[in-house]
Amino acid sequence: MIKTKKKDKWIKLICGASNEDIVAIEDLCAIYTAAGIDYIDVAAEESIVQAAKKGIEWAKDIFKNSPGLMISISDGNDIHFRKAKFDPLKCPPHCPRPCEKVCPTFAIDNSGIKESKCYGCGRCINSCPLNLISEYEYNLSKDDLASTLHKIKPDAVEIHTEINRIDSFTKVVSIIKSSQTKLEKISISCGLNQSVKKWQEPEDLLKALWERYEILNELNIPLIWQLDGRPMSGDLAPTTSRDTVKLFERIGSHLPPGLIQLAGGTNEKTHEFLKSNNLPDGIAFGSSARKIMQPLIEFANKNNKRLYDYPEKMALAINKAQKFLEPWKMS
Ligand code: SF4
Ligand code: SF4
Repeated sequence: MIKTKKKDKWIKLICGASNEDIVAIEDLCAIYTAAGIDYIDVAAEESIVQAAKKGIEWAKDIFKNSPGLMISISDGNDIHFRKAKFDPLKCPPHCPRPCEKVCPTFAIDNSGIKESKCYGCGRCINSCPLNLISEYEYNLSKDDLASTLHKIKPDAVEIHTEINRIDSFTKVVSIIKSSQTKLEKISISCGLNQSVKKWQEPEDLLKALWERYEILNELNIPLIWQLDGRPMSGDLAPTTSRDTVKLFERIGSHLPPGLIQLAGGTNEKTHEFLKSNNLPDGIAFGSSARKIMQPLIEFANKNNKRLYDYPEKMALAINKAQKFLEPWKMS
């Protein structure tokens, strides 16, 4: 097992495993590269990766930062690989449209949900008083994993897994191994299912991660354990990250060798909730990082432009992103 160094500490932007809004992804990658992000996690699809690279390229030379590209894959049906839908013809004409109000990407209008703009956060699903909104599985990768890895050649891979999916996890690892893709890191993203029917304890997660460590150890690639406190909860409230922090405090010191990264409900409050003498190696931001940029990105998008075509607004976006990342950059 390769030993990891302190300089590996980082901040990751999660663009979304089912996010295919190419315009927004390009802008997000440009903004957060400029603000100093260390890794960017995107869907395992060539056109998305190209959009991300374009955004990074825009910022790279000016801001002297070149984040690594990570792709998200899954070893089975997974909540991160979904979208939402509803039939607008079933909506009553006077509905105050809470679904539209809660959507962070402005994916909802009178004609329903625009598939390419939905990344499956789930916020709208519980907002509909008539329960008209449902979710469906959506995996952007149209190729098998080996071809995807050959085409994209990512710097890192994140495997989304669940506690009881050890067999399919083993298969995914063996594909990665035989593809001989040169990876800087492999991240394992796993959370707890705490629904009434499938209640899982942090100790179950710990056991599952050690099992995965045994499988991954022979690859000799640095590992990241991504603790997904509230997987795709869709909840953007400041206190949401408390669950993630609690999980980290409970099992963080017992995890297998590797880096620890927090995700799932992470937001601008996460840093405050953590003890300053016990911070994780990395933090990953998804919805919270995207939401603060979305109005600016929409503005450019409506005019068929990229945000960096508007230097003043781009500067504003970069400033916002820097402020958002500041507590972690200072740690
Ligand atoms: S709220 Fe989330 S799940 Fe619903 S349409 Fe918007 S992005 Fe998709
Ligand atoms: S909240 Fe439900 S009923 Fe109202 S517009 Fe949205 S999907 Fe339709």
